[in-house]
Amino acid sequence: MIEPDKVSRLTAADADPDSASDPAPRRVTVLGATGSIGRQTLEVLRLFPERFRVQALTCGSNIDLLVEQAREFEPSCIAVGNRERADECRSRLADTDITVFAGPQGLCEAASQPADIVMAAIVGFAGLAPVLAAIETGATIALANKETMVVAGALVNEALEASGSTLIPVDSEHSAIFQCLAGETMRSVEEVILTASGGPFRDRPAHTFADITREEALDHPNWDMGAKITIDSATLMNKGLEVIEARWLFDLAPEEIRVLVHSQSIVHSMVAFSDGSIKAELGVPDMKVPIQYALTYPDRWPAPYERLDWTRTASLDFETPDTDRFPCLRLAYDALKAGGTAPAVLNAANEVAVRLFLDGEISFPAIPGLIEDTMEAVAGPAVSDLDALNQVDHEARTVAKELTLPAAD
Ligand code: NAD
Ligand code: MG
Repeated sequence: MIEPDKVSRLTAADADPDSASDPAPRRVTVLGATGSIGRQTLEVLRLFPERFRVQALTCGSNIDLLVEQAREFEPSCIAVGNRERADECRSRLADTDITVFAGPQGLCEAASQPADIVMAAIVGFAGLAPVLAAIETGATIALANKETMVVAGALVNEALEASGSTLIPVDSEHSAIFQCLAGETMRSVEEVILTASGGPFRDRPAHTFADITREEALDHPNWDMGAKITIDSATLMNKGLEVIEARWLFDLAPEEIRVLVHSQSIVHSMVAFSDGSIKAELGVPDMKVPIQYALTYPDRWPAPYERLDWTRTASLDFETPDTDRFPCLRLAYDALKAGGTAPAVLNAANEVAVRLFLDGEISFPAIPGLIEDTMEAVAGPAVSDLDALNQVDHEARTVAKELTLPAAD
């Protein structure tokens, strides 16, 4: 949980790029360096070569890009989730001093290297264990991997408390809320309002959903992101996951989190206060802005990202989401209200459903049905530790896959 008035251990002096009193570059580890957020993080780091030093980089299996990144940023180590690819990567970097770790344990090794900031940008449940490993070192966590909070918000908050490490949200909505909360106390918060672009099917009639193709679903109107989150945006599950993420980041009740569809994606989210005042954070949709804010917090460093052109911003529209056409958002609220391991089951079933849709195995409207059926079939124990969560995740994935098999006669 984030306490808005808790100032990060990164002091203002540390964060001033011109400050002579801060000669040591900030050590940054990027988990999921080859993905959309990972690559944009490296773009931000490139803008400040004197101020950041890359400590470790990881990927799942894209070693072509990881090798390229390793040669450019010269980290002390890298990790590859896929073991066979890690062996190949090791031989390709044999002429360097870079250590190559392999497999899920290797990702945790890389996450545990001494760093000032760890960018958590692995997609899905696979990112949870490395985030917990990074928290144990006391590093500041820049969190993009929302599934971590969905599955294990309570566990992550306990770990943050125990290690004293700080978490800064990277997800644009949560970064916006975090910025709106600066100088405020949670006592004065009436509700937070997460904005949603509505995705590519915002205005599409439900009776045509069965015809939605993979390509149509991957074509997001405002953001260029990895495949999984792009499908999540099309089903509105992304917003559902963000509601649960907000619950754990800001210690909110489900009824204190409202979602509004805002097709322009200019207002990144808002906070409504007890005196009727509302604060919003606005800007051009560009993930490099919240990424950089997480890396430079509590300061802002001058950067050349596109500015909002008010002459072309004719109007800002807001509407209530349609949970009949997009039931995933309702399912996420259901999971949040049910508590326990329900969000972990929701997440696992969603990861399976998105994979099956991308592989052409199920239709777009079958995604929420599969998630709902899995949630009904799997009731896990209360969340106690990472092992329990691993078990629930495994069981929910198995059930979700079985539910998609044709029934035997
Ligand atoms: P992506 O698919 O582009 O990249 C994912 C990264 O994780 C890659 O480096 C990949 O190699 C690695 N990875 C995938 N599976 C792995 C595994 N099993 N083991 C180890 N590494 C693995 O995804 P992305 O769009 O960059 O999103 C990353 C996270 O950030 C997600 O949780 C997403 O919800 C969140 N996020 C993304 C955006 C965005 O604009 N892309 C915005 C907000 C939040
Ligand atoms: Mg978001």
